[in-house]
Amino acid sequence: MSVATRDTARTLPAPVVGAGGAWWSLDHYDAPALVGNQGQRRFHVMVKPGGSHCNLNCQYCFYLSKETLPNGPGPGRMSDAVLERFIAQYIAGVTGSEVVFSWQGGEPTLLGLDFFRQVVALEKKYARPFQRIENDLQTNGTLLNEEWCAFLKENRFLVGLSIDGPRELHDQYRVSKGGKPTFEKVFNAVRLLQRFGVPFNTLTCVNRTNAQKPQEVYRFLRSEVGATYMQFIPIVEYKGFEKTAPNQWDYAALPKDGAPEARPGHADSIVTDWSVDPDDWGRFLCVIFDRWVQKDVGRILVNHFESLLSQHLGEGPQICIYNECCGKGVAVEHDGSVYACDHYVYPEYRLGNLTNTALDSQVFSRRHVKFGYAKHETLPEYCRQCPYLPDCWGECPKNRILRTADGEPGLNYLCRGIKKFFAHAIPQVERIVADLRHQPRQTRKRM
Ligand code: SF4
Ligand code: SF4
Repeated sequence: MSVATRDTARTLPAPVVGAGGAWWSLDHYDAPALVGNQGQRRFHVMVKPGGSHCNLNCQYCFYLSKETLPNGPGPGRMSDAVLERFIAQYIAGVTGSEVVFSWQGGEPTLLGLDFFRQVVALEKKYARPFQRIENDLQTNGTLLNEEWCAFLKENRFLVGLSIDGPRELHDQYRVSKGGKPTFEKVFNAVRLLQRFGVPFNTLTCVNRTNAQKPQEVYRFLRSEVGATYMQFIPIVEYKGFEKTAPNQWDYAALPKDGAPEARPGHADSIVTDWSVDPDDWGRFLCVIFDRWVQKDVGRILVNHFESLLSQHLGEGPQICIYNECCGKGVAVEHDGSVYACDHYVYPEYRLGNLTNTALDSQVFSRRHVKFGYAKHETLPEYCRQCPYLPDCWGECPKNRILRTADGEPGLNYLCRGIKKFFAHAIPQVERIVADLRHQPRQTRKRM
């Protein structure tokens, strides 16, 4: 988030005298705001210019319900004025050498090509000479055509394509508004992206069904889609997630790890029916890891494996769930509202609106920094004693919906699977890391 580390933050004097002689205490949550832009400030924004509006009705989608969330962002489309302020503020707020715009939704292609032509023009208008501007577009692919692909190629967009595996697995949950399958259209997008040479990653939501078919999913993505970067995201949805923000749960009612209610499918389960079973999640990663280790190391990038390698090389995780703290990425909605994270678009986690408070002051505000540190500070004792703590850090706080065997709340729903994966993969990762240490750094970066 900032050059200010918690150690430097702790050396700050407290209390201090404020304007008019008022006294208040400072602590490490204030450090980024105090350091200001004297160091390099990096943060990332996922922007939803069309809100949660989408042409599909994927059963597990956690974002469609934002349209009806009380005091939420509601429906709408980003106005020209908000778009320009967002682009100007984001570019001005990041002082590092790279600014990455991640366009999401909902389905961002519904905004039309002219909207994105305007995006590129505004980025050029506000770009500073020392900065590289990059764009990602996360899409369901169903509206991509030749004109879109030519634009994406010409403007160097990186596409994230949502695809859940071969036809029968993809069509299980990824359906149109009328409940029709979408595989054909998505696979057509794969062919188009390849024909136009548009770089793309795959994003596969690992749910209760496809989690049981890791070999089929990996083979399909590798050999039929030709994916060279695969992202696997576990579907974990607290029942009632549509209205209840993370950490607003009824803690006393959270089931203990291993209880039938701590798995999908039970009448009183804590999660939706389509959420991945925690043991299946671990097995899914282990099976794919073995296949990847045999043939694909350095050739195909898989988000969880790259991150683990990077961590064991001492270069930190590549995905936020394995970071010690959150707070490096915010979500911006169509009306300019800023939220603590893409998974925290709830009124309780709304930081403000960029039309009246600059984006970077919200990102480095005491409130948001506190949100970031909470990931570490709220870890249950069970995690603090865990041998995998430096690899896991309790995974994503939105998934901490279980109690430990001795009743402490805050255990991650996926813990059983995460442990299984780490126990299986880490010895092999250590061997790969030992080999990599003998290779030039250039080659290592590719890993
Ligand atoms: S809340 Fe979860 S998704 Fe958001 S930054 Fe933290 S770990 Fe990442
Ligand atoms: S593996 Fe489980 S116990 Fe260990 S840090 Fe992760 S969530 Fe906590």
